[in-house]
This record gives sequence, structure tokens and C-alpha cells, in this order.
Amino acid sequence: MYWQYPPCVLLLCMAVVIPAALVLFVWRRRPGRGAMPAALLALAVAGWSSGYAIELAAADLSAKLFAAKAAYLGKAFVPTAWLIFVLRYTARERWLSRRNLVLLTIEPLVTLLLAWTNESHLLIYRDFRLDASGPFPMLDLTFGVWSWVDVMYSYLLLLLGALVLIQTLVRSPHLYRGQIGTLLLGALPPMVAGVLSFSGLSPFPHLDLTPFAFTLTCLATVGGFFGFRLLDIVPVAREAVLESMSDGVIALDTKNHIADLNSAAQQIIGSSASGAIGRPVAEVLSGRSDLVGRYRDVLEAREEIVLGPGEAPRYFDLRISPLHDRRGRFTGRLVVLRDITERKLAEKALRESEEMYKALAMASPDAVTATDLEGCITDVSQRTLELHGFEKAEELLGKSVLALIAPEDHKAAMMNMQRTLREGVVRDVEYTFLKKGGSRFIGELSAALIKGLDGEPKAFVATTRDITERRQAEEDQQRLLTAEQEQRLLTETLREVTLALASRISHKAVLDEVLRQAQRLVPYRTAHIMLLEEDTLRIAHWQGYQASESEEHISSLVQRLADLPLDAKVIQSRKPLVIADTHQDPRWVVFDETSWVRSHIAVPICLRDRVLGLLRLDGDTPGEFSSEDAKRLEPLANAAAIAIQNAQFYEQIQRHAAELEQRVAERTRELEEANAQLQELDRLKSKFVSDVSHELRTPVANIGLYLHLLQRGKPDKQAQYQGVIKEQTERLATLIDDILNLSRLDLAKEQGKVTFAPIDLNMVAEQVVAAQRPRAEAAGLELILESDTSLPPVRAESNQLAQVITNLVTNALSYTLVGQVRVSTSLDAERGQVCVEVRDTGMGIDPEDLPHLFERFYRGRRVGSSSIPGTGLGLAIVKEIVDLHGGRIDVESQMDQGSTFRVWLPQAERQA
Ligand code: ADP
Repeated sequence: MYWQYPPCVLLLCMAVVIPAALVLFVWRRRPGRGAMPAALLALAVAGWSSGYAIELAAADLSAKLFAAKAAYLGKAFVPTAWLIFVLRYTARERWLSRRNLVLLTIEPLVTLLLAWTNESHLLIYRDFRLDASGPFPMLDLTFGVWSWVDVMYSYLLLLLGALVLIQTLVRSPHLYRGQIGTLLLGALPPMVAGVLSFSGLSPFPHLDLTPFAFTLTCLATVGGFFGFRLLDIVPVAREAVLESMSDGVIALDTKNHIADLNSAAQQIIGSSASGAIGRPVAEVLSGRSDLVGRYRDVLEAREEIVLGPGEAPRYFDLRISPLHDRRGRFTGRLVVLRDITERKLAEKALRESEEMYKALAMASPDAVTATDLEGCITDVSQRTLELHGFEKAEELLGKSVLALIAPEDHKAAMMNMQRTLREGVVRDVEYTFLKKGGSRFIGELSAALIKGLDGEPKAFVATTRDITERRQAEEDQQRLLTAEQEQRLLTETLREVTLALASRISHKAVLDEVLRQAQRLVPYRTAHIMLLEEDTLRIAHWQGYQASESEEHISSLVQRLADLPLDAKVIQSRKPLVIADTHQDPRWVVFDETSWVRSHIAVPICLRDRVLGLLRLDGDTPGEFSSEDAKRLEPLANAAAIAIQNAQFYEQIQRHAAELEQRVAERTRELEEANAQLQELDRLKSKFVSDVSHELRTPVANIGLYLHLLQRGKPDKQAQYQGVIKEQTERLATLIDDILNLSRLDLAKEQGKVTFAPIDLNMVAEQVVAAQRPRAEAAGLELILESDTSLPPVRAESNQLAQVITNLVTNALSYTLVGQVRVSTSLDAERGQVCVEVRDTGMGIDPEDLPHLFERFYRGRRVGSSSIPGTGLGLAIVKEIVDLHGGRIDVESQMDQGSTFRVWLPQAERQA
């Protein structure tokens, strides 16, 4: 290859070396924002210049063309790198989004691609030739369409960057304008070069001046970075730091002119940056000449000042510090204003609240005491002094709070202090507090932990209230409540007892209920009820003895009052007795079975002034019962008395009822027997009437028949007829007599009207025998009377006695055909009875007839069929009369031998 070295190549070499050096320089220092794009820019320019230098140095067309295309590696990226640098430098990060960065690289890449493929489309170079007309062969290029697009695009980016810089320049404080101006200057050379190239005014028409121009841009860029360092920060860094500060920052130069101020400071002094920067501070703050005067020559200060209008003052922490450059020369002062209004207001509020707290503490009806964490008093309210009897706070300040609390509560107080420390608050704890003189009162204390702003515990505050009166009132109320409850229990128990007792009628149920209710009123271990019977107490009911194994003893307990002085006293006085300790009372009688009893209470069961018994309660420890208990049991015992009496009445009534029932049963049985007798009598009477009717019918029928015969019959038989009629009439008369006799006897027996008298039996027998003698003689029989002359009188009714003897004699005469009839009297002294015996020698009596002889209308078998007249009533009448006289009759008989009838009658009682 043929190389040529025109002079401009040397120049171009500089255009390569300078940016390359800059790349290294920037890279090593990296002064701040934009360093990286600045280095890239320099690199791109270096690449471009290198390519261009090679293009110029190459002699043949193909080499030149290759170099020209290679130059695009740098050239294509230069404007883009510059714009990125500007945007980064001016902190327009928003614009440098990833998307925008990609978009920005599209055009350079397209250009690069097209340059390298130009021959196929000629969009970059439409035509290219070697121009050998000059001293050096140059590449004569006719630019294609895309080249124009690229140029336009490049200048557009350049212009855009310049505009951004101008905008920044306008906005930036005075301090930074030189720096930005330098950068802006860097944008000029490429533009000038462009104008020259396109206008054809270039002194080197075939030479592209842009690489040189961009070398200048690079220089200006890097120089801008490092040349101006008043605050040693780039304006964007200043903005980032100062503008973000809420404190106002004002930089003053040595002549007290405002060199810079951030927006916070602008707001504070009420002036814009443009209106303030560069002007003397005294002028800007003309309204506050006092401040300006005070700090005019102060190099360092830290004070609080007030700014702003009177009604809404703002407080600031003012700091002044000197500024020096790198060589230590004084360059001005930095004024920092920190707004502390809020803190000030908070402090004020705190002070006010403290005041209020104090006022509250003073006004509080409770005593307020503040202590440190060790419990040393740091503050007391007036009420605290009054409550504890002190006059001055000094008497208490610094002392331990325990000095105000009774020693017995110190432990609790310490524990509560720990609790307050842990939990933050303790409410309503009670202590006994001390007064100055040593007297005490009961107080209620609430305490709270006070924490500092750092959250650490700082102190305790406690309020104390004297609750002695309240406690007293509470105790009174409690006492009243207890009394009321007790009264209610009593009333309820009494009501229940009354109801329960009223509903129980059995003695046992009543006593059971009494002991159950007693247990409710006064709990006991064992209890029993003794009932009084004259001078003896007898167990009636008991409870609770199973456990003490003395049930057997109690179940059969009978005690004489004389042996029990205590019980005798209770019964006599009708007042309850309480024995607190049986071991201490000499009057207490100890039984082995109940030796465990240590407490005892005995309540009399009184009905008006009568003592029915005792209700006794036992306990196994001393002092179990009080006189209160006794009082409680008294109404129960009274109610029990009524119920016990009721139960006794009830049981008496029950007993009477049972007796009556028994009597009624007996009477009923008697009546039933009587009724049976009556029925029997009735039956006998009916039979009697029917027998009488039957017996009457025969003679009446006979009389009727013979009367008829008398009228109509044969006249010769009239006497016979008359005889029969007479006979029948006599029979009828006898029958009627017998019936009347019987009926009289019945009546006399029923009415008991028979009057007995001492009668001489011999005499009556004589009269009867005399009366019957004619009939005996008529029948040819011998009638003999054998009288016992020593015979005493009998107790009898004479007519009836005569009737007895008459009936027996007439029968003997009737049923004896031959022989004799003997009537004899005798005395059975042993039995005190007199006997009359009628013995005959007649036909005798059939043994089968014997049991029926004394029945009414009964006639012997043999007799019935004979012609011997009779009614069958004779012996019945005899038997009735003998019975009526309390005597007896018997009969002995042998067939065809004769019969003997004996009647015994009681002898009359001797007249005194
Ligand atoms: P009545 O003599 O009218 O028949 P009583 O009552 O007098 O009735 O006697 C009852 C019966 O007793 C007589 O019918 C007779 O059979 C018998 N009887 C009574 N007395 C004697 C006697 N002395 N000897 C034999 N039988 C007698």
C-alpha cells in the first residue's frame, strides 16, 4: 500500500491523541455525573479521528474507502454520546430511560450498518472517486440519502444538547455559570465546522473539519469539569445536595454578597435566587438590619433567631461557619438556617402542659405525689401536704415515699412500685398511710409511670385519697347487709318452718323438719330434741349421731331433770343456754358416748309459759355457738312448740278415733247379734202365731160342726153333741188361757215387770194339790203332797209359781192312768235352791220326745194320737216361768214307768 502524509494528518493525529488522553484522564478521575458519557464521547471522537487520519494517509481508493467506513465506528456515535453526556451532566435522568437509550442507539447502528454495506445500496456514498487534482489524492465523495439523514440527525442532537445546557445555564446559580458556559462553548466548534463545510466557505474544501471540531468539544467538556471548582461540586451535585435540604443554605462571599442560596433559603428570606445572588446581604435582608448588623463580622455562630411576621413567628437555628478554598484561603461564609418552629411550639406546648399538670395536681381533690424511680419524693401537691399534715413541700421533698406509708405496708408498696415500673400503672391499691404526728388513715393509691421521650422510665406519679370514711361507710353498709341477710334468712326459715311444720302432722315429721331447719340456721354436728314428761326428759328425735357412733345411746336417752342442773335451769328460766366449752363448765354432765361434745346449745321449746322440751345442738370444737345462734334458734323452737303440740293433739285425736272405731265395731257386732236374736224371735213369733192359728182352728171347727149337729142332728145325740161342744169349748178356753199366759210372760220378760217376793213354796203346793184333788179322785189316782217343812221361802211371783206346779200336776194326772202322783218339796242348801218335784207312775216319755218337751205346741208322739186333751203349751209355760225366776227344770222318765219333773228355784234372800 502506498501511504501519503499530508500535513493535516499530523493535525488529525492530535485529534486522535487528545481525546484518547482525555479518555484516560476522565476515567481515572471520574469527577462526577457525566464522567462516563464524557469518556465515551472522547473515545468516539478518537476513533473517528483515527479513521479519518488513515483515510487521508492512504493513497488508493479502496484503502481510503475502507478507512472512511472504519471511521464510522466512532463518527456514528459522537452526537449520541455528547447528548447523553449533557443529559447526564444536567441530571435529566428521566430522559435517560432504558427505552430512550435504546432509541438513541438505533440511528448510529443503522448508519454504521449502511456505511459498511454502502456498495449494495449507495445510501451513504452515492459516488466515490479519487480526486487527484490537489497536492494529495483525496477521496471525492458524493453523499447518499442516508448521509444527509445522519448529518441532520447529528446536528439535531447537538442542538438539543446545546438547548439543554442553555436552559441549565439560565436556571443555575451564578456560581456555576462559567462551568456550564464552557460546556456550551464545546458545542460550537462542530456547528461552525458544519456551517463551513456546507456553505463551501471551508479553506480546505476536501477536508472534513468536524473531527477537529469535536476534539475541541472534548477539551471544553473535560475542561468544564475540572476548571471551575468553587464549591468543588458540579451544579447538579449542588442541586442534589442543597436543593434537597430542608435547611436554608446561603453562601456569602468575602464581601458579604450572596454567592448562592438554595430554594429553602429563598423561601425563608422571601427572595428568589436571581433577586438575591450577587447582591449584598444587607440589601436583600433590609427588613432585618438588626440581624445583619449583629452577624456582619461573625465568622462562626450558633443561635436561635426569630423571623417572619409577628403573629406567626418562625424560629430558626442559625449557624454561621467560614468557607475556605483548597489552599485554606477564606472565601466567604456559609449560613445555615434550620427551621425549629415546630420544635419550639412543641416545647411551648410541653411547658404549657406541664403548667396545666401542676395546676391540675393543685386542684385535684386527691393528693398528688411525684417520685423518682427510687421512690424519693420530687414533687407534692398542696393536698398531699394537707392529707399528711405537713406545712411545706420542703419537709417531704427528697424523702422516701415510704415515710408516708405505715411500715406493715412497705413490702406491698415496694412490690407495687415494681409493678408500676413493669406495667406502667397500678390502680386503687390500699395502704395505711401515716400523718406527720404518726396518726394513721386508710388511703387508696393509684400510680403511673412517667416515661421520657426516649421511652425510658423517668418517674412515678401517684394520687392518694383518704378513704377512711368511705371504708367506714362500706363496713357499716356491709354490717347492715349482713344483718339484713340474717334477718331475711331468719324470716325465710321461720316462714318455711311454719309452712313445713304446718304441713307435717306426724310427730316424727315435725321433729325431723325442726332439726333440718336448725341445721340451716346454726350448723351443728349433732342435734336432738328431748320432750319433757313431768320431771323427766325423753328423747324424741335426733340427727347426726351415726357419724359419732352414739346413736344407740341417744336413741334410748331418758334423763331425770334432777341429774341435769343445766337443763333444769333452761326449763325453769325458759331461756336458751350456750356452753362455749364443755370442759370448762363444771355443771356439764359428761357421758362416755358423747364425750366428744365441746360446744353445746340448749333452747327451750316453749308454748306460752309451758316448756314442752329442749332443742339441743352439739359441736365438737369449743366456741362453735354464740348467744346470737341461740337467739336465732328461739323462734324456731317456738314454732316447733306449736307444731309439736299440734302433732300431739293430732295423734290424740287419732287415738280417740281408733278407740271409737273399735267401739263402733263392737256395738255393731252386738247389734248384729241382737238383730239375729230379734230375727230368731220374729221367726218364733211367726211360728207361734201360725201354731196358735192351727191349734185354734181344730176346736173352733169342732164346735161349729157339733153346733150344726145340735141343730140338724138326731135329737137323741144332742147331749153327746153338747158334751163335745163343751169339751171343745173348754179346750178352746184352756188354749186361749195358755196363749194369754205365754204372751203375758213374754211381755213381763221383755218389760222386766215381774215383781218377785219371798213365797212359801209349801203353801202354794198345798193350794195346787187341793185344787187338783177332785180331778185326781175323778181319775182314780192318788195325789200325795210331801212338804219339807224346813223349806225357806223362794224368790218368786206367787201366781206364776202356782201355774208351774199346776201345769206339772195336771200333766202327771193326764198321763197317768193308774197309780199315784206325788208332789214333794225339798231344799238344796248347798246351792241355796228350793226344789219342787212332781213324780207320777204314768206312761212315761219317749226318749225322742225329751229334747222337744219344752217347745211350744209340742206334744208327745204317743199323746198326739191319744184322746188326752192338751195344747202342747203347758211345759213351755213352765220353762218360761222357771227361766224368768232364774231357776232350772229337768225331767227323768222311763217308758210305762212314770216321769219325774224337778224344778229348782232360788231361795229368797234373807231379810236382814
Ligand atoms: P199337753 O200336756 O197339753 O200335751 P204339755 O206341754 O203339758 O202339753 O206336755 C207335753 C207332752 O209331754 C205331752 O203331750 C206328753 O206327751 C208329755 N208329758 C208331759 N207330762 C207327762 C207325764 N207326766 N207323763 C207322760 N208324759 C207326759
